Amino acid sequence: KQYTKEEILNHAESSNVRYIRLQFTDLLGIVKNVEIPVDQLGKALDNKIMFDGSSIEGFVRIEESDMYLVPDYSTWLVFPWDTPQGKIARLICDIHLPDGTPFPGDPRSVLKQTVERAKELGFSSFNVGSEPEFFLFKIDENGNPTDQVNDEGGYFDWAPLDLGENCRRDIVLTLEHMGFEVEASHHEVAPGQHEIDFKYTDALEAADNIATFRLVVKTVARQHGLHATFMAKPVYGINGSGMHAHLSLFKEDGNAFYDESDEMGLSVTARHFLAGILEHAPGFTAICNPTVNSYKRLVPGYEAPSYIAWSGKNRSPLVRVPAARGQSTRIEVRSPDPTCNPYLAIATLLAAGLDGIERNLPLAPPVNRNIYIMSDAEKEEVGIRSLPPTLNDAIDALAKDEVLREALGQHVLLHFIEAKKIEYNIYRTQVTEWEKDQYLHLY
Ligand code: ADP
Ligand code: GLU
Ligand code: MG
Ligand code: MG
Repeated sequence: KQYTKEEILNHAESSNVRYIRLQFTDLLGIVKNVEIPVDQLGKALDNKIMFDGSSIEGFVRIEESDMYLVPDYSTWLVFPWDTPQGKIARLICDIHLPDGTPFPGDPRSVLKQTVERAKELGFSSFNVGSEPEFFLFKIDENGNPTDQVNDEGGYFDWAPLDLGENCRRDIVLTLEHMGFEVEASHHEVAPGQHEIDFKYTDALEAADNIATFRLVVKTVARQHGLHATFMAKPVYGINGSGMHAHLSLFKEDGNAFYDESDEMGLSVTARHFLAGILEHAPGFTAICNPTVNSYKRLVPGYEAPSYIAWSGKNRSPLVRVPAARGQSTRIEVRSPDPTCNPYLAIATLLAAGLDGIERNLPLAPPVNRNIYIMSDAEKEEVGIRSLPPTLNDAIDALAKDEVLREALGQHVLLHFIEAKKIEYNIYRTQVTEWEKDQYLHLY
């Protein structure tokens, strides 16, 4: 909803708001906020609140650190939780430089610019529906998260009520209270794993929603004495957590991915967009799967993709085209995981698809067989490539992808790659339990 300044000020007063969090995300997708008391709200709405960007991951150096928080009025939200002082509200902000221009390191502005490009090509909106999965783990006596799920093990844990189910129900109620349209919520395949799907919206709001969603899930889980994690593969040997992205482009007259005269009901636009996704999949993987751990999820056997292909039926390839047509025609990209920065992930997916449209990229035929049982020779014959197997490979692929480099901009690209190289190199030199078990006695 597009609020006015007056409406926000009045609502803050009538809802007993005491503090406002001016929210944004850093390069790694971590939600940051500058908290102001309610008497500063008017000033904040006039874009007059400054903060020091040098303290934020991937932002800037000390000497160029003054930045302004520019609230997006449509994101005004009063959190349902009570504090002794009153309620807390939030506004999601863009970040501007002192001269009033958008800060190029702000992920939200990167996404806005990519959406602008879609508009220039005649699309009124880029719709994104996400399916974030997460685990709920028990917390130990010291308040630290364990890797014990609460609904596993002895049958005592199942009766009379599963802690995790209660917690998830509470999360859904809180989200609905905050204006989310929750379409489905269910227990996932792995013990302790859950999924909550909310209705698709325009790209920017979808990214804002994912950031808010993660915050709500973690907060409510804490209230239930549980730790929620969006880590991609928290436990070896069972399913990891994905965040499938359902994507479609709309024009003024409706879904541009739908064409009833096509044998599959897919428009030329949808086919080129999908071809662009497949073309740039190696490049966007670093953004959509940004942790060392993400690559432990992208392996055969756990419903996560590891090959670059698409299908109308099968769930093993990177992209599935769900059966629904008409306004619901969409593609589902199955590789992203919920550790990604939602703004950057959606921006790269859109940039990849638009490139396919702009270059009229031809779409390879669907692969309706189980790719996991195809031999390497068979895969090569039909041109099926693999997703990058490690964060390091993914970074290299991103660095080589001109289209995604351009979409992210120099600032984000360089800082992201630098941070991720450091992360990978620290990881690379670790000595893990597995290695000790494997080698300590043997050699
Ligand atoms: P799955 O079978 O993978 O669990 P669903 O087929 O239930 O997923 O799809 C759910 C997601 O697709 C929801 O987030 C929903 O809002 C989204 N969705 C539906 N129509 C569209 C559309 N036209 N564009 C983008 N997302 C859509
Ligand atoms: N957890 C699976 C993944 O890692 C997805 C399961 C599903 O299809 O919902 O992507
Ligand atoms: Mg799922
Ligand atoms: Mg799905």
